Amino acid sequence: MLRPESSIQYLKGVGPVRAAAFARLGVATVEDLLYHVPHRYLDATSVTPIARAAVGRDVTLVGRVVSKGVLPTRRGLRIFRAVLQDASGVIECAWPGQAFLDRAIKPGQLLLVTGPVKHFHGRQVNPREHVILAEEAEEAGGAGEADGAEGMVIPIYSATEGLSHRVIRRLIRDHLQELLGLVQDALSDEVRKSAKVLPLRRALEVLHRPSARSAPSGPSASPAAGGWEEGRRRLAFDELLDLQLVVTRARMVAKRAAKGARLMLRKDLTTALKRALPFELTAGQKKAIREITADMVSAERMHRLLMGDVGTGKTVVALFAMLLAVENDLQAVVMAPTELLAEQHARTLTQLLAPLGIVPELLLGKLGAGEKAAIRQRIAQGSGRIIVGTHALIEQTTAFHRLGLVVIDEQHRFGVEQRAALMEKGKAPDVLLLSATPIPRTLALTLYGDLDISVLTERPAGRRPVATGVRTSAERSRIYQFLREQCAAGRQAYVVYPVIEESERLDLRAATTMAGELAERLKPASVGLVHGRLRPEERDRAMRAFRDGEIQVLVATTVIEVGIDVPQATVMLVEHAERFGLAQLHQLRGRVGRGTEASQCILLSDDPSALARLKRFARLTDGFKIAELDLEERGMGELAGVRQSGGISLRFANLVTDGELVALARRTALAMLERDPTLAAPQHQALRQRIERRYERGIELFRVG
Ligand code: ADP
Ligand code: MG
Repeated sequence: MLRPESSIQYLKGVGPVRAAAFARLGVATVEDLLYHVPHRYLDATSVTPIARAAVGRDVTLVGRVVSKGVLPTRRGLRIFRAVLQDASGVIECAWPGQAFLDRAIKPGQLLLVTGPVKHFHGRQVNPREHVILAEEAEEAGGAGEADGAEGMVIPIYSATEGLSHRVIRRLIRDHLQELLGLVQDALSDEVRKSAKVLPLRRALEVLHRPSARSAPSGPSASPAAGGWEEGRRRLAFDELLDLQLVVTRARMVAKRAAKGARLMLRKDLTTALKRALPFELTAGQKKAIREITADMVSAERMHRLLMGDVGTGKTVVALFAMLLAVENDLQAVVMAPTELLAEQHARTLTQLLAPLGIVPELLLGKLGAGEKAAIRQRIAQGSGRIIVGTHALIEQTTAFHRLGLVVIDEQHRFGVEQRAALMEKGKAPDVLLLSATPIPRTLALTLYGDLDISVLTERPAGRRPVATGVRTSAERSRIYQFLREQCAAGRQAYVVYPVIEESERLDLRAATTMAGELAERLKPASVGLVHGRLRPEERDRAMRAFRDGEIQVLVATTVIEVGIDVPQATVMLVEHAERFGLAQLHQLRGRVGRGTEASQCILLSDDPSALARLKRFARLTDGFKIAELDLEERGMGELAGVRQSGGISLRFANLVTDGELVALARRTALAMLERDPTLAAPQHQALRQRIERRYERGIELFRVG
């Protein structure tokens, strides 16, 4: 009897050869085949009637092959040609150098082609992609006939060598009813109805046998009708629900672990800090401090992420948390990803803590052995109460007396194990993660569902927004004039060059040449250069020289992205701005405007097609808004770095466009776990199994009682 986990070879029409080809597509079982849903659908909006394929356009056409042949050219190139016909007309397709297609493509076949229409003795298509949809006399399944594109939807399956789209399609058509019979819906009717998603069986059916993109009456009005988009929505919901169940459960488990030491609200140091602060806290900072304080005095461990653009004042907020720990005779530690950043934190903290008589310890890898040993001893004995450092903190030889709070700056730059290693230096300490990479709420819920989140949106008063302008090279002399004036007035500038991997050598040469040219043209200002190929000490040295004002203009590749705080730096000039992502540009812009002087960000670009995008960026200041646009532009691919623990792979859900579905999945997960925290109830068994398959380790969370 056929079972979901039966090998695909059990299916009639699949032998060892096809099974091997299926394996390349990630399809091993009959259930995998059911979930091998089309990656693309073509309908009237995406298929052009042949008569309307205009020269110069990129089109997708569907037609019968009426004739074909290989044509040798005078220069020895063999061109395969086929003439396609639909109800509206005929057109020639040509595949230069692909004579072998003569064996596969035959008259009578229904062929789909995608490519540009050129002018060559009339119209001619040069297909980039082609799919044989059906053989002669074979009906095209849900696609109907190729006469006029009206009302048809053609599903396109990923194919591979030895396993054509057509074969996959036929196998699925032949076995669909039987396969659907194996489907068990892990969601109860109640959950399905409240989430307004299709039954699983129906969802898979409409994905394989689509009648339209969405039901004519709209998705919510008649979920039973079901176009393929509703099928996708159901599978996306399942993915998101599983993910939310895992992160929500992770959070429950983490919270339940009682913290090592119960904190009391004492207020001696925190109140003293508030009095001594040279500025007024922003409303956002106050709120974040309240949230953190509430976490820290509760019996559960804190796991909080503090998210805010550069310059929103995260360090001060973290300092209040640190003092709360210190008031309770506990130690607090801040780990930063670079020595420069650690030094910067140490300097800020030293200043702010001076009135309180507390001196922070600074532990860096570069210190001498004797010095490190002395610092480690103070940390181990507990006389060091607030400790700042780099990875040196997680080395074996660092032991704490009573560690109560762990703060991790630029948390995404550390691996999970590194973060964990620091946390394990204490007895279940509170944890505060800092991030200067704001991300949209939907994403945060998905990626950080196991953390509480505090957000800083406003900048401290008195900071002027950075004026952002888009310029072309034609204005270079004027820009240099402006840089000279700024340097003469005692200010400093960054000039940033893009370096992308494929052209790294060329890019670096350009940056180096530019540094030389600037040194010449900006005299008497001194110009320095930092790039990713420098050794860390050399890079540090250049950055320090810039910080200390010995260098006025720093030419840099994006290594300064998570760089340093130099209040006198007021100009950020970005070369080839079109080559940067919006979030990256925003990070770069955040390097200036740190002092009270007016600051400028100049985006240089000679690419007219990038103009609209850069101008749009110039008008925006909200990091969250920019992050959203960035995500739309680049998609999720780049986000792997946002959470290095990774493991999130979504096939059907799209975090950019499925915001509503993410929230729905989250609510559903919370409600389920509230009633059944380990998913032990009989009606949750199918769900449990599904999570087990998707998240090998995630299920561990549900094992503990
Ligand atoms: P980030 O969020 O980028 O880590 P920091 O914590 O480094 O920001 O703060 C940037 C600068 O702003 C620091 O010099 C800090 O002392 C200062 N700052 C923080 N909060 C305020 C405030 N409320 N008003 C004025 N200056 C502030
Ligand atoms: Mg910071």
